[in-house]
Amino acid sequence: MSLPRLRLETSLRTPEGRWILDADEVHHLVRVRRCVVGDRVEGLLPGWRVILSLEKNQERWEGVECERIPSPETSLHLLLLAGILKEDAWNALLRNAVEVGVAQILPLRCERSVPKGAVLSAPRRMERWQRILLEATKQCGASSPPHLFSPLEVEEIDPVTLPPECYAAILDGGARPLGSVQCGPDVAFAVGPEGDFSPREKERFREMGFVPVSLGPRILRAPTAVTVGCSWFSLTREGLCRTDDALSL
Ligand code: SAH
Repeated sequence: MSLPRLRLETSLRTPEGRWILDADEVHHLVRVRRCVVGDRVEGLLPGWRVILSLEKNQERWEGVECERIPSPETSLHLLLLAGILKEDAWNALLRNAVEVGVAQILPLRCERSVPKGAVLSAPRRMERWQRILLEATKQCGASSPPHLFSPLEVEEIDPVTLPPECYAAILDGGARPLGSVQCGPDVAFAVGPEGDFSPREKERFREMGFVPVSLGPRILRAPTAVTVGCSWFSLTREGLCRTDDALSL
């Protein structure tokens, strides 16, 4: 069974290798995971997993560093462009993106995105999204959350900033089956909002060189489409899906 996890950015490390643990991070470990003195927990830092043994010094929880494990190098750098959704679905999409190893997220204010207006660019909303991403790293053990860009409209994307390979999940006929894609190490993947991309947005993606891909015959909810598409890219990069075998069956 995996160890209970906490993030360590907000805790303090003494020169002797003791961690004075952030009270909010400890709260979940003690109240929900029922951790006690002597238990081992896993601290997450960008690039590292730090195994700690819990101690209590008066009312303060501390962690003694037992082991520091570098996070494995990933073979894929994936930029996800996702149409902004209603709150619950969007939060699910963010969590799914963390679980499947997305490196960067660009929220798209699409023509058919339901939540519209200034509230989308509010710093408080960005903070909230960042917090959801950080919390999700604890669930899946990712050492760092994806980088979150400020929302843009599709028209505002600068193609020069995009990676060499770009794919867009497109429902119309003629899209290439995702299963035939064997991607390189640096990829962008776009998924539309509940109301789908508008014809103008699809045209703009085409102009920017995005290859339209199909995720199968059924219409998936956007958070599911993110999981399916991003998993395919990361599993093929990790050599866990053999497209040559799949095609010869
Ligand atoms: N409301 C729309 C569906 C939007 S699904 C309708 O009923 O037609 C949200 C997004 O998920 C789409 O914009 C697309 O990017 C992606 N998506 C969902 N299922 C897909 C599929 N089978 N193939 C390709 N893209 C898909």
